[in-house]
Amino acid sequence: MEHHGTHHPGASPACPACLGLGVRLDASLSTARALRCDCVGPCSVCEDGGWVARGPNVVACTCHTLAERMVLYDEAGLPAASVGPALERWELTPLVERATAWLTGWRPEPGSRGLVISDPAPGRGERLLGALVAELVFGLGARVRCVDLRVPDAIWPQATEYRVLALIGLGEHEDSRALKRGLSEHESSDGSLLVATRLEPTWERTGATASLGEVLDPSSAVTVLESCLTAVAERHRAP
Ligand SMILES: [Zn+2]
Ligand SMILES: [Zn+2]
Repeated sequence: MEHHGTHHPGASPACPACLGLGVRLDASLSTARALRCDCVGPCSVCEDGGWVARGPNVVACTCHTLAERMVLYDEAGLPAASVGPALERWELTPLVERATAWLTGWRPEPGSRGLVISDPAPGRGERLLGALVAELVFGLGARVRCVDLRVPDAIWPQATEYRVLALIGLGEHEDSRALKRGLSEHESSDGSLLVATRLEPTWERTGATASLGEVLDPSSAVTVLESCLTAVAERHRAP
């Protein structure tokens, strides 16, 4: 997956740290941050002014667009533990193929479908979600907000503030009231839902169990999440 046209013109295309994007992802704090990669020199297009003439108009240079997307990435609030390899560096398992296909079809428009990543390996689904968040932000300029359900009193964003709501740690979650409240707001907002879970959500629509990435209509996303919640509640009840 290429980062479509948002790489810094002053970045080194061969840089192994940023793959030519000009940004490296820092996981040294509790949430991930986007930092300018060491390979980035002065912008060869705008000489670091941020704006370029295109015909009679003045438009933002790609280095300026990239700087805006770095802010979006910081604002997403991705847990640092979710930072992993860029999507193009993942082995092409069926789940990664499914996730890549979902990303290719995703648009920052109302009604765009979401994705459930259910992977039994500890942390792997979470890191795949992190890779997708980076692609959504740097490739498409999407406004993403993460909710880490393992954090007590996890903060839910206003539904109007994001295009993609990314949920992490559903299996460890016990406060179903807060989750239902957050989801009911999401349901009315037309945003996509990106979920990483070690549970296998089931839903009655198909009678199937989703063990791989499952693509969700906004209208069915809440139903699927509620079935996850039921599974969590049953597990907590079990001795
Ligand atoms: Zn670099
Ligand atoms: Zn520039």
